[in-house]
Amino acid sequence: MALLDRAIVNVLPAMPKGVVRRISSRYIAGTQLADACRVVSQLNEAGKLATIDVLGEEITSVDEAMGIMREYRHVFETIEREHLDSNVSVKLTALGLKLGYGLCRRNLEKVVSHAREVGNFVRIDMEDSSTTDETLRLYRELREQGLDNVGVVLQAYLRRTVNDIDSLADLTPNVRLCKGIYVEPPELAFQEFEEVRANYVAALENLLDGGSYVGIATHDEWLITEGKRLVAEQGRERDEYEFQMLLGVRRRLASSLVDEGHRLRIYVPYGEHWYAYSMRRLQENPKIAGYIAADTFGRLIPGRNGG
Ligand SMILES: Cc1cc2nc3c(=O)[nH]c(=O)nc-3n(C[C@H](O)[C@H](O)[C@H](O)COP(=O)(O)OP(=O)(O)OC[C@H]3O[C@@H](n4cnc5c(N)ncnc54)[C@H](O)[C@@H]3O)c2cc1C
Repeated sequence: MALLDRAIVNVLPAMPKGVVRRISSRYIAGTQLADACRVVSQLNEAGKLATIDVLGEEITSVDEAMGIMREYRHVFETIEREHLDSNVSVKLTALGLKLGYGLCRRNLEKVVSHAREVGNFVRIDMEDSSTTDETLRLYRELREQGLDNVGVVLQAYLRRTVNDIDSLADLTPNVRLCKGIYVEPPELAFQEFEEVRANYVAALENLLDGGSYVGIATHDEWLITEGKRLVAEQGRERDEYEFQMLLGVRRRLASSLVDEGHRLRIYVPYGEHWYAYSMRRLQENPKIAGYIAADTFGRLIPGRNGG
């Protein structure tokens, strides 16, 4: 199956942009903030919360990083004006992490401070393992300077994650827990599906035991069931945790969580950088290309949507 996934990825760059756009369109709201707002409004009507991400992870200049920072200001203004139930997610590389720690920190501080002024919240996405230390350091620095309306992401495939939870415990961090999407070497990351699941459950237990608000971000039904079990065992109220999913993925499962009374947040990316984002995501993890192919071309790939 891995070979098939890789084959799909290899032909993608040769496909006309329009085809890639059609394939990825259900996962991306569009190029404009108005597109994201339309999608968020529909989600809200269906009882779902949202987190808006301004695409821009491949920026290469200080101006672009400042541009992304300023775009978040528009996002907050629009969320407020249109009474949308959404927070935001940011990628530190989009705010200039690869161009300079200080630049990124200043940009992040502005985004989080502006969110605080309007009573909103910022989730710092987690990128590949070359950024983990700096991401956690920035998160700690912001929290220690009194900015509480910010959360971070931890990846269950990383071997270090349970230790990171221990190191962050004094902050009672607000954490989105996901499996992790980047391709990482075996020294750093569990490679086996069941190992990742086991580490996810261990990390979730630790976070809940420590009193953290957790965004349980997964489409894996087995993990969702474990998540429900753990929050019930802890006696967590509805507003003390949430489930999270990506736009366009497992929509029926998402709706069933809402019907059962859980809070569910959908990740809504938008921006001009949709093509680079889609290609990078697909090339980073060929498995995702397989999911998309299976979703797009029906059941041509048997057994794909099971696990
Ligand atoms: C809200 C949210 C935010 C995230 N933020 C980050 C982040 O900051 N950093 C990071 O590294 N990763 C992030 N991820 C991605 C995450 O790490 C996983 O790569 C992704 O969620 C797939 O893992 P899974 O837990 O859904 O389980 P899987 O076992 O991979 O997927 C379970 C099933 O869901 C379906 N599925 C999963 N993904 C897709 C897809 N893209 N398209 C179509 N079907 C799919 C398939 O049917 C699959 O069988 C995020 C995920 C979510 C839901």
